[in-house]
Amino acid sequence: MSLKITDECINCGACEPECPNTAIYEEGAEYELNGASFDALSDDYYYIVAAKCTECKGHFEESQCVEVCPVDCIVVGEEEDDATLMARYESLKV
Ligand code: SF4
Ligand code: SF4
Repeated sequence: MSLKITDECINCGACEPECPNTAIYEEGAEYELNGASFDALSDDYYYIVAAKCTECKGHFEESQCVEVCPVDCIVVGEEEDDATLMARYESLKV
């Protein structure tokens, strides 16, 4: 599963530095993927780039962003199996 941030986010910024895949960006910030930059996915709240989220697999047992979010607004987005997440982890390493 990749995770997503709901509109209950209070933009506290606690999650961003915890992500081992740099999948979390502040509102309005461009994100990077494979060396290219892309427009922000949200101008209102912190957001997660699904293509970079492994649910922390390969790094940690628990989703680090969920652990630190004070308002529990990070929820399951798209359902993905472990093989998909580990393949993403491997692709993000290079
Ligand atoms: Fe980053 Fe892990 Fe949260 Fe996904 S679950 S956004 S990889 S901290
Ligand atoms: Fe938003 Fe939660 Fe991240 Fe804070 S920790 S910026 S409330 S998603």
